[in-house]
Amino acid sequence: MEYLRLALDEAKKCTPSPTAFCVGCVLTASYPPGTEPVILAQGYSRELPGNTHAEANALTKARQLSQAQLAELFPNAPHPIDIDIILTHADIYTTMEPCSVRTSGLSPCADAIIAARIKRCFIGVGEPDDFVKCEGAQKLKDAGVEVKWLNGLEKECLEVARMGREQ
Ligand SMILES: [Zn+2]
Repeated sequence: MEYLRLALDEAKKCTPSPTAFCVGCVLTASYPPGTEPVILAQGYSRELPGNTHAEANALTKARQLSQAQLAELFPNAPHPIDIDIILTHADIYTTMEPCSVRTSGLSPCADAIIAARIKRCFIGVGEPDDFVKCEGAQKLKDAGVEVKWLNGLEKECLEVARMGREQ
């Protein structure tokens, strides 16, 4: 829940859009497995250039970490530290269900999470059918990602997602 709150803080950084949601995301990882999780990267909708999404942005930022930054985050990991391995020990916390369809031609976040072999996905609220029908959670589950719906912040996640629009 602590990480979902952080993800909400990220979502609040979004520039509101009439045609897209404002979503925030936090990527954590425990490596070596069993150690305390650390925050690998955070992201929000449209943070990186283009019509980018929170989850994809967090993954992009994680992959941009230098060896020095990774060594600081994971002092006990064997060197060189492979971000692709770290990601297989990562959890993603997102304020809204990762998208399964993108009309823009960019690849859906659910696919990016699956491709990165993220272990677990914690979701603040399901994606309402404002724009498209979302099947992200099901898609993740089908691919073997553990999906956990977090209770308690649904209303806040949805309010932030619809920032700048009529409710
Ligand atoms: Zn997305």
